[in-house]
Amino acid sequence: MSQYLDSVMEKVVARNAGEKEFHQAVKEVLESIEPVLEKHPEFIREKIVDRLVEPERQIMFRVPWVDDQGEVQVNRGFRVQFNSAIGPYKGGIRLHPSVYLGIIKFLGFEQIFKNALTTTPIGGGKGGSDFDPKGKSNREVMAFCQSFMTELWRHIGPDTDVPAGDIGTGAREIGYMFGQYKRLSNTFTGVLTGKGLDWGGSLTRTEATGYGLVYYVTRMLQDANTDWNGKKVVISGSGNVAIYATQKAQSLGANVIALSDSNGYVVDESGIDLAAVRELKEVRRGRIREYCDSHPSAQYFEGCRNIWTVPCNIALPCATQNEINGDEAAILVKNGVKFVGEGANMPSTPEAIATFQESGVAFGPAKAANAGGVATSALEMSQNSMRLAWSFEEVDAKLHGIMNAIYDQCTQAAETYGKKGDLVAGANIAGFLKVARSMMAHGVV
Ligand code: NDP
Repeated sequence: MSQYLDSVMEKVVARNAGEKEFHQAVKEVLESIEPVLEKHPEFIREKIVDRLVEPERQIMFRVPWVDDQGEVQVNRGFRVQFNSAIGPYKGGIRLHPSVYLGIIKFLGFEQIFKNALTTTPIGGGKGGSDFDPKGKSNREVMAFCQSFMTELWRHIGPDTDVPAGDIGTGAREIGYMFGQYKRLSNTFTGVLTGKGLDWGGSLTRTEATGYGLVYYVTRMLQDANTDWNGKKVVISGSGNVAIYATQKAQSLGANVIALSDSNGYVVDESGIDLAAVRELKEVRRGRIREYCDSHPSAQYFEGCRNIWTVPCNIALPCATQNEINGDEAAILVKNGVKFVGEGANMPSTPEAIATFQESGVAFGPAKAANAGGVATSALEMSQNSMRLAWSFEEVDAKLHGIMNAIYDQCTQAAETYGKKGDLVAGANIAGFLKVARSMMAHGVV
């Protein structure tokens, strides 16, 4: 990196001590934009990068609630409003015990560039809590969500900041949060996305991240003169993104053979029975090992990380950050993987990305490949503003068009800046340029 970018990075590490995921996310972007700054010294002069790495606002708050035993519990809530240069802050709410400020900041930072790529007018933000919905009763989840929103509501709004789902935040949690927002603000607005279809949600939003990922990887396959038909696919996770990536990939002829959760993974060489997984995960909230109870030919393996030892042509990490390290990437390559598309946020470590790229594996980075979810959230916002609801086919067609536009932006930006075929650089550069130009236009704010 240039001396200037090195100095920005040093400052980020010093100012945000201990937030290693945030450092990782910033470093990847700074490494990509070096050729852009060479062409645009005005971005250095106006300290665009120095400003970009500092959130516009970060909110941390206490979330007290009462559990089913009558005990008071205290969690910590976060909302990082990172950048509003191109629209209201937009990004999900993660509920997971691993959540701390560094996770929310890495996600919020990534969201700035991802949202810029979607072609829709949304800024970057992210929120969450170290609350774990797993094993909690519906009443406990409701008590937490209501308490969380009782603080958050004053900081958000349909033209200010529009949160959505993420790990641990699905339709149930969005419902409880929306209900509390509506009660406190006495307004019925599109303040959250991922809403139920009866009360302002958009068709296709549930499927959007997984479908969008498959649309993006389809373009990668087409550039290699091939398609999904007959390809062996390994997908990590068995949540929202994993389930709908599986559904779309299967509909295009792929053989999805493995899925996981944080306890372990299942391999079903005859092809994952998605209806069974959906019943297990979406209805019963069970564990992936239970899949084998009804599918005796499938095998369960304890521990989720070894899923990358399963030989496949296409790998779609759809669980969490840093779930593929350099060694695991090397095993995937040795076993013949040719395409990797990131459904989760930052699932590959920098070493893993380098291993894939040096081995000639086509690599689709998260901020481009999984942008279909937030893009469809932006379509939900449009429908809410118009008080209209589009059909599934209409939203799906728009999503498909957006994923194609994202892919084109990535390939074109990479080529323009001398990194042909590097989709990581292309995504970072295209996203950065849009935000940087907008920040320049707004003056020093
Ligand atoms: P869900 O909560 O629906 O599912 C998450 C899945 O990943 C579960 O199977 C979960 O297993 C597994 N998982 C979570 N944490 C870990 C961990 N530390 N180690 C191993 N497995 C883990 O979340 P989503 O599907 O919505 O999100 C998955 C990823 O996709 C995240 O990185 C998210 O940020 C990203 N993403 C999601 C979008 C969306 O629209 N939902 C949009 C863009 C990105 P278990 O049940 O055992 O915890």
